[in-house]
Amino acid sequence: FDDRDGWIWFDGEFVPWREAKTHVLTHGLHYGSSVFEGERMYGGEIFKLTAHSQRLKRSAELLDFEIPYSVAEIDAACKETCARNGLIDCYIRPVAYLGAEQLSVSARNSKVHLAIAAWEWPSYFDPEVKKKGIALEWAKWRRPDPSTAPSTAKAAGLYMICTMSKTAAEKRGYADALMLDWRGYVAEATGANVFFVKDGALHTPRVDHILDGITRQTVIEMAQARGTEVVVRDILPEELAGFSECFLTGSAAEVTPVGQVGDYRFTPGELSLGLMDDYGKLVRGQL
Ligand code: PMP
Repeated sequence: FDDRDGWIWFDGEFVPWREAKTHVLTHGLHYGSSVFEGERMYGGEIFKLTAHSQRLKRSAELLDFEIPYSVAEIDAACKETCARNGLIDCYIRPVAYLGAEQLSVSARNSKVHLAIAAWEWPSYFDPEVKKKGIALEWAKWRRPDPSTAPSTAKAAGLYMICTMSKTAAEKRGYADALMLDWRGYVAEATGANVFFVKDGALHTPRVDHILDGITRQTVIEMAQARGTEVVVRDILPEELAGFSECFLTGSAAEVTPVGQVGDYRFTPGELSLGLMDDYGKLVRGQL
């Protein structure tokens, strides 16, 4: 992915894509001192841009470091990155991390770096499979107890088990994995939040210990505006037997219907497909 044309915003300057490199002794690489965002531009507008920039700053604070740019500066840099690359429909990836100024578990003499890349990425899951509902397996790994990690941050370190779970799922022919939390309740997929449908209402896990998805919040508001009840609560895996629909939400995944979680089957219905369409309209300012 490093060998392509384009420009990457790197510590306040644009550098050619191939030259946007960090040293092998980068603190973030050794100790996971890295936070990031994932956002999309639709028709020239980045959806919920400021919410993403604010979350990036907050994720860094949760890891005890401060990004040396304001939310407004990060917003502007994201827009400039898209413009510089001539993109109007794309995915944007800001990443902030501690550099190679020192190599020690301590971060006292490390500097915070910020890079922003953008590229065309039409669909996170196969668009054809998406309509029928993607297949998930249960992840072997659980989301950590919030007392063992800053679990609400969008921090690279928290993705170690996501990468392992997603890769294992793909090797077995699944699109993704659904993870439980440390207590054994349903948490989220490896890069998206999860919703279920029962008797016309949406049910979704609490997010005080996992990533509070910006798409999740958007979908909750859209559903409530349609008069759909949204129940935020602890969900046990065996409850999946009583749900009729399931879908994932995320900036990359958007609204993705789920057809299977392990042995449980779902048929994407009115709510999943309706919210999928509405979300597609909302992000393009057509709702
Ligand atoms: N959970 C995880 C683990 C994620 O990586 C993502 C994607 N950022 C989400 C949830 C959804 O968050 P958002 O809707 O803000 O993209």
